[in-house]
Amino acid sequence: MKRKTVPQTVQLLNRGIKALGQHRPDKAVNFFRSATESVEATKPVELAKTLYWLAVALQQMGQSDLALKSLASAQKLQRRGYARKLYVRATNQYGMLKRSCQDLDDFFAFMHLQLAKYLSKRPGHRFTSLEEHEAVMATLFDAWKSIQSSGFLEGQTCAEKVLYFRNLRLAFPVVNEGMRVRPRCTRGAENFDGSASSRSNSVEEVLSGPCPCGSGLPYLQCCGRIKSVREMR
Ligand SMILES: [Zn+2]
Repeated sequence: MKRKTVPQTVQLLNRGIKALGQHRPDKAVNFFRSATESVEATKPVELAKTLYWLAVALQQMGQSDLALKSLASAQKLQRRGYARKLYVRATNQYGMLKRSCQDLDDFFAFMHLQLAKYLSKRPGHRFTSLEEHEAVMATLFDAWKSIQSSGFLEGQTCAEKVLYFRNLRLAFPVVNEGMRVRPRCTRGAENFDGSASSRSNSVEEVLSGPCPCGSGLPYLQCCGRIKSVREMR
C-alpha cells in the first residue's frame, strides 16, 4: 500500500510548532517562513494559518512589530479566525501595538509617522550615523513635548490626530555628505493649534471609515494602519 505523503506546508508547520514546544522560536520562525513561502497563492486560509504561526514565533522572539505585520496580513485573509481575534486584541485604533494608555498610543503613532516620513528620504531608509539618529530623535521629542503642552490633541478623534501628525512639518537637522549633523535654528514643530494642517474632509472620512478592502475593520486598524519603522526594512 502506498503511504500517504504529508504536504510540504503541513510538514513545515509541524516542525515549527515542535520547535516552539522546545522553546526555540528562532528555529520555528525559519520553519514558518518556509511554510508561508510554500503555500500556493490559491489557498488564502492556509496562508493565514502559516502567517498566524509566524506571528506567534516572532512574538516569542520579542519582535512584536514584525509579529503584528504578519498578523495584519493573516487577518485579512481569514476574517473569522485566531489571527483576527489576536490582531484586534493586540492593536489600538491606529492599527499599532496597543500600549498602556492613550497618550502612549498617540506618542507612538506620531513617532512612527514622522520617522517613516524622514527615513523614506534617506538612503536605504536608514540613519547614516548615530549622530543623525540622536538629532532626529531629539527633534521629535521636542515636537512631542510642544504638542502635549499645547493640549491640541484633547478631544480629537484618531483620524483627526493622524491628519495632524501627517501634515506637521518638522525642521529636521540637515545631514551633510560627510554625515555631520548641522542643527537647524528653528522652533521645531510649527503651529500647534492645528491650523497649519490642511484638513480635507474626504481624507478624514476615509481615515475614520471602514476599510475599503472589506475586512470589516476600521480603515486605520486595517490597510491604513500606521506601520512601524521596522516594517520599512
Ligand atoms: Zn483593509
